[in-house]
Amino acid sequence: MAKESTCQRCGRLTPAYDLLHIINLDGLTSILCTPCVNATHLESSPAGGQPIPEFEPYVLKVKNKRRHTFHIRGRYGPAGITLEAFKLSESVRSDG
Ligand SMILES: [Zn+2]
Repeated sequence: MAKESTCQRCGRLTPAYDLLHIINLDGLTSILCTPCVNATHLESSPAGGQPIPEFEPYVLKVKNKRRHTFHIRGRYGPAGITLEAFKLSESVRSDG
């Protein structure tokens, strides 16, 4: 199981790979989960926008019954919404 920490905005226990350290203009640091980072962006954006949905992991089955699980997340950035798919390494999955 990957190491988990609590999001300081919503209080949800979140895997470490889905947490971001945010530093605001006053130099204060907070640790937020991806949905809270996106919500913060929407609240501060004059252009507004739509919430980005949360995606279930995608499991790819290949030869020899091996399975590869990809996590998918969307984030607001300077160029708009980006989607990122990533696979956890064995060391992250067994961390904790
Ligand atoms: Zn959160």
